Formats: sequence, C-alpha cells, structure tokens
Amino acid sequence: MSDNRALIDRLEKEGELSKDELIALISSYSSEDRAYAASRARAVSLRIFGNKIYFRGLIEISNYCKNDCYYCGIRKSNKNAERYRLSPEDILQCCRYGYEAGFRTFVLQGGEDPWWTDERMATLIKKIKAEFSECAVTLSLGERSRESYQILFDAGADRYLLRHETADPCHYKKLHPECQTLENRMRCLKDLIDIGYQTGCGCMVGSPYQTAAQLSEDLICMKKLRPQMIGIGPFIPHKYTPFKDFPAGSVEDTLFLLSLIRLMHPHVLLPATTALGTAMEDGREQGILAGANVVMPNISPYEARKRYMLYDKKVDASSDSLKSRLVLQEKIEAIGYEVVTDRGDYREE
Ligand code: SAH
Repeated sequence: MSDNRALIDRLEKEGELSKDELIALISSYSSEDRAYAASRARAVSLRIFGNKIYFRGLIEISNYCKNDCYYCGIRKSNKNAERYRLSPEDILQCCRYGYEAGFRTFVLQGGEDPWWTDERMATLIKKIKAEFSECAVTLSLGERSRESYQILFDAGADRYLLRHETADPCHYKKLHPECQTLENRMRCLKDLIDIGYQTGCGCMVGSPYQTAAQLSEDLICMKKLRPQMIGIGPFIPHKYTPFKDFPAGSVEDTLFLLSLIRLMHPHVLLPATTALGTAMEDGREQGILAGANVVMPNISPYEARKRYMLYDKKVDASSDSLKSRLVLQEKIEAIGYEVVTDRGDYREE
C-alpha cells in the first residue's frame, strides 16, 4: 500500500492528520490516490446521507459591495460591473418560485451592500419565514457586527455561510486590502457559531500565492471550528480584477480536498459548488462522487444572474434557471443519486 493510501485510511479512522502529513498528502497525491480518497469519501456520504442530495435555492440579492477583495468580480473597484439590487419583493418572488420548484432552503447571498441594513434584512427574513414556515433561510452577506448577526438570527435566519478564504494571515493580506483582516473574519465566524447559526466556512483552492502548507492550515482551521457546512471551490480569474492573469485553481485538487474534508467531517454539509461546475463541465457531479452532498442551483432572476459575476464564465449565468435546475437534477440522477425536497439541516445522530 502506498504511503498516501495509508494516510487517507488514517484520516478516515482518526479524523485528522498532522500538518506535515497533510502537506505531504496534498503535494504528492497521484490520480489513483485521488480515486481512492473519493471512493472512501463517497462511502462515508452514502452511509450518513444515503444517496440523497440536498438542493438549496441560491438568490443573489445584490452585487453592490463596499469591499475590494482582489479576486472577486464584484469588488468595489470594478467600475465595469453593472450594479443591481433586488428589492425585498423580488426576493420573495424568487422564494415563491423556488418553493414551487421544490426548494426548502433559500440562500440569500450578496456583496457587502450597506443598503441592506439590519432592519431591512430582518423584515425580509420575517416575511420569508412567515410565508414559508418549513423552509430554512441561509445568509451569505459577509462580515457584520455581532449585534447584527444576532438581530438576523432572532428574525429567523437559520444558517450563515462565510468562507474564511485562507487561514494564513500573510496569505489573507495578499488576497485583500489592508483594512480587511483575517482577525475580523474569524471573529465573525466565532460570533456566528456562538449565536447558534448552522455556520459554514471554507476557502478557494488554487487562489494566487497559495501553497500546500496553507491548504493544510485551512483543513486544520476547519477542524478547529467544527462548522456545520464547508464550501470550497477552485479560484477562477475575473478579467476586471488585479488577479486577472493568475491561473485558475485545479479541479483535481478541489475534488481531492472535498474527499479529505468529507473524511475529516463525516456529517458536514458539503456543496459541490458553482465554481467547480464552471471549471469543469461535469464538476458538480464529480464533486458528489468525491463526497459532496449539497448543490446550490441559482434561482435569481436572469438580470441578476448575469450581473453577479464573481469570476468569468460562471455557469448558470445565462440559462433559464428552471431548465438548468432540471438538467442538473437529471445529471445527478444519472450518477445514481436522488435530489430531495428537504430542509437538509445538519444532524449528528
Ligand atoms: N460577500 C459575501 C459573499 C461572497 S461571494 C462574503 O463575503 O462572504 C462567495 C464566495 O465566492 C467568496 O467567499 C469567495 O470564496 C468566492 N469567490 C469570490 N471570487 C471568486 C473567484 N474569482 N473565484 C472563485 N471563487 C470566488
């Protein structure tokens, strides 16, 4: 048995490895090792979730952003971005449409748009929960104060996605301007967990300047936070950002990391992300076969989808959302999985 297989087996058994072991595994795995990790991770997912895949309806509520992340297409300095903001009524319409299509979780994601005050957001969350009482509401609105997170939680929000982006403060500085700090990002994650949100962290794979040691740190950071959700996807350059000339992150690395994450966190809600589906034609199906159990189809109106461009050539950005949902469902069924109409909460039993 190769050393890497032995490491993968131990990761499954013990749920962790040392930093040096993780670095060795990430920097030397072969395609056979990746297939092996995927088969182990898939078996874990099947044991915990059966062949069921949870769908979340993603609504991109605004591409106004006060931040300036160097990788992101909706950063404030991108003067070419056509800005838009959905109204609360537009968002409720998306939920109505999504509910009919079988979604029981709505994910409201956006840039850090000051128009969305706590009051406006809390009012919207209450309206969604009043109309769709059996649905979960997930927020992904970036960094806010603890008080703000508490207000939105009290209004009925169930979950919050906030990728930590990179667990290494020096790498964080290379991806963000000085005023955005890893310290505040981690403060936010701790507050969210403390308040009682089902919380998601995560990172890009292959972001500029990233090393295997930093990816290992990301895995260790995830283990320490013990989040309910983990989102990872390959970095994809956007033509109007400072990182336009950097190469995209590797799909293989992303798939391998998905498998390692599944082995480390058997119960975690792990999406096969849009970025993975953009980087490779059947990326989301491959993600499921590597251990993912969640897919987040875009249910934003067409005008919003084509403007919420975090990176170039984002999938789902142009096609009709009902049609792309059905196509995705068929593809998932073709690999032997079933899409379920379920809130899909985190469970440990
Ligand atoms: N404003 C929110 C939502 C950000 S968009 C927040 O700060 O959390 C969601 C995720 O998309 C980000 O966390 C980032 O990891 C990812 N992303 C942004 N630009 C990207 C790019 N160029 N390639 C791949 N993923 C990207």
